Amino acid sequence: MALVNEYYLRLPGSYLFADIAKRVTAYKVSHPKQRVISLGIGDVTRPLAPAVVEAMHKAADEMAVKETFRGYGPEHGYDFLREAIMKGDFLTRGIHLDKDEIFVNDGAKSDTANIQELLRWDNSVALTDPVYPVYVDSNAMIGRAGKFEDGKWTDITYLPCTAENNFTPELPDHRVDMIYLCYPNNPTGTVLTKDELRKWVNFALRNEAVIMYDAAYQAYIQDPEIPHSIYEIKGARKCAIEFHSYSKTAGFTGVRCGYTVIPKEVMAKTIDDKDVQLNALWERRQSTKFNGTSYISQRAAEATYSEEGHRQTRQTIAYYMENARIMRETLSKAGYAVYGGENAPYLWVKTPGGMDSWKFFDTLLYGCGLVCTPGVGFGPSGEGYFRLTSFGNREDVEEAMERFKTL
Ligand SMILES: *Cc1c(COP(=O)(O)O)cnc(C)c1O
Repeated sequence: MALVNEYYLRLPGSYLFADIAKRVTAYKVSHPKQRVISLGIGDVTRPLAPAVVEAMHKAADEMAVKETFRGYGPEHGYDFLREAIMKGDFLTRGIHLDKDEIFVNDGAKSDTANIQELLRWDNSVALTDPVYPVYVDSNAMIGRAGKFEDGKWTDITYLPCTAENNFTPELPDHRVDMIYLCYPNNPTGTVLTKDELRKWVNFALRNEAVIMYDAAYQAYIQDPEIPHSIYEIKGARKCAIEFHSYSKTAGFTGVRCGYTVIPKEVMAKTIDDKDVQLNALWERRQSTKFNGTSYISQRAAEATYSEEGHRQTRQTIAYYMENARIMRETLSKAGYAVYGGENAPYLWVKTPGGMDSWKFFDTLLYGCGLVCTPGVGFGPSGEGYFRLTSFGNREDVEEAMERFKTL
């Protein structure tokens, strides 16, 4: 009989959003007249920008004609998109990348999960807590996380981010090999200043660690002082891999496109102390395991960099950020301690009276038919908080805020 990868069996049972769905279904059965509004969804709701849709139509038409039909594309992405990325996302910030340092993918989630397979299973990992669950679970799956006990993995270094430290993680007091950072942060909606990010880059350089930097929400940054890319920090080209996605930037959660940046200077060591380029390894890995992103999706992504496409996608982001502003204002006035929501589409809110996250989830659902995401679902330091997203319709957000006031 084949033996199973037992590390999968160590993963905690049911997934956060499945738990939420179960409770919401139970509520709906007993309250059939109440319209439930979800502020818990991590998915966008606004339609694609017209310029993006037009590019997709055009690409589909090309696929319909023998002369312009495309089969397998280059595994690492078409040049038209890699060049648009280089110019649109990096050169404008004074960052020079080589085309070969950009790997187009079908969304950031798979790469943030898969990147760790370039490194041996026995490397040590640090991650911020609370955290996007993909980083933790993907490391657990190859045995790097140890055992899951009392809501924590035994072999992971947790970097607590709470109101007490202003959601700024402290450097670990020991060396680690891999560090996951996500800014603007999901779930807390908070950001890191250049000075704070510089501490991490310097730590990684000192310790020869690799930083996995998830920039999926960089387009939501409003404050001009906040870095959009870790490569704005000197030395990051030697120690950081960066993930981008069009999912939140341009509403591509159903279209699927993103990219990963691996500068050629990022190295890891062999056991006998030889340097190996992670860029070359990832290229090898992708050539074997990935067959490229759809041509239509890549044309759609390219369209986000045109003048029109850029303007239109910015409008949608402004819409979500106005939702966030309304929510922040209402909840702050109602006496809640609200974090995030200024440079990110997420608000991270302290539960009133020290209530635990799930208790507050039920109170909110049964009190006024609203759904939030319990903070503890993102890690132990999320206990006592809940997350709200600003991805809903304006009318829903406004009604939800009215209901909040009655709670
Ligand atoms: C939504 C999200 C992504 C993007 O995922 P895609 O696979 O590109 O849709 C990446 N990282 C974080 C933290 C996210 O919340």
